[in-house]
Amino acid sequence: MPRPIQATIHPCALRHNLARLRSIARDAHVWAVVKANAYGHGLENVFEGLRGADGFALLDLSEASRIRALGWRGPILLLEGVFEPRDLELCSRLHLWHVVHCDEQIDMLALHKTHEPHRVFLKMNSGMNRLGFTPQRFRSAWTRLNALPQVDEISLVTHFGNADGPLGIAEQMARFDEATRDLPGERNVSNSAATLRHALDTAAKSDWIRPGIALYGSSPDFPEHGCVDWDLQAAMSLNAKIIAVQDVPIGGSVGYGALFVAEQPTRVGVVSCGYADGYPRICPTGTPVLVDGVRTRTLGRVSMDMLAVDLSEMPEAGMGSTATLWGKASNGALLSIDEVAQAAGTVGYELMCGLSVRVPVGVSQDLQPA
Ligand SMILES: *Cc1c(COP(=O)(O)O)cnc(C)c1O
Repeated sequence: MPRPIQATIHPCALRHNLARLRSIARDAHVWAVVKANAYGHGLENVFEGLRGADGFALLDLSEASRIRALGWRGPILLLEGVFEPRDLELCSRLHLWHVVHCDEQIDMLALHKTHEPHRVFLKMNSGMNRLGFTPQRFRSAWTRLNALPQVDEISLVTHFGNADGPLGIAEQMARFDEATRDLPGERNVSNSAATLRHALDTAAKSDWIRPGIALYGSSPDFPEHGCVDWDLQAAMSLNAKIIAVQDVPIGGSVGYGALFVAEQPTRVGVVSCGYADGYPRICPTGTPVLVDGVRTRTLGRVSMDMLAVDLSEMPEAGMGSTATLWGKASNGALLSIDEVAQAAGTVGYELMCGLSVRVPVGVSQDLQPA
């Protein structure tokens, strides 16, 4: 028997979340952002649930090839553009659209031999100082691109650094507006947080939106809002089994470093999930976990292959019970990945992306979300 741990992807949750974002962004086309192997869910596992999107946005050429291999003939966007000249050959061959964020990428395009011109997304650095041309240099980049026979339509892109927090998007939005006012081309500015929190302010710039995290059912601005507040459903559940039970007397400790010491007799379940599966080692005693769909807490330090949970109040639970580390339990109870991420001092994104390759991933056949 394989080690009892399994991640399950829920296509109906993906479909639901996509529909949610579509309804918020009204007329906008939707890129389903599937970089990092669909935020750890697996490209092939999410494809069915997300194929209602207008396009797939990602970073790796190998991932673009995988999407084409699944039969997708629609748009694919490379969010960081190309890294070297020969990448442009694959763009021509697979009809990939690509971001252009620096002079070097324009240089490469100018030397590229292609039968069909490329659709490109010119990126502005509107204040995040990651990728893109400054507002001052944006127009000259556009003019240079526009003069190239290798280039077809030019869309205009920027990315917000604070759409999820109190700083908001106003300043970056104003810079983008000012510098693009009389330029033609479709606008594409919003990630999940901007779509959910700033739909009114971005409506005029939303020919396309680029949600990632919300599609997977994690809230981009947790804990201000949780996935339930945004009406998003968890697209991934991580379940494992209890493989041992220990009755720990007062004064007994649990796990490496004896970080948990029982102050009363404590019934401990040992779960077949550890940090080598992608469960954060830093999660302290008290991190929420579901056992047979009932909420309890972790105890002591997370090991490589196991972690301990408190069964003291759960006499029915024991050997063979199912622990839900995040996502949905079979009784429909939900433990949001955002709560576990918070206990680890991080965000849902990192937990999803960190699911280890040794964890088998299945796709749920449920027709209705739990
Ligand atoms: C990852 C990414 C997104 C999606 O961001 P979420 O916060 O996951 O919605 C959008 N645009 C760009 C450029 C990205 O790199």
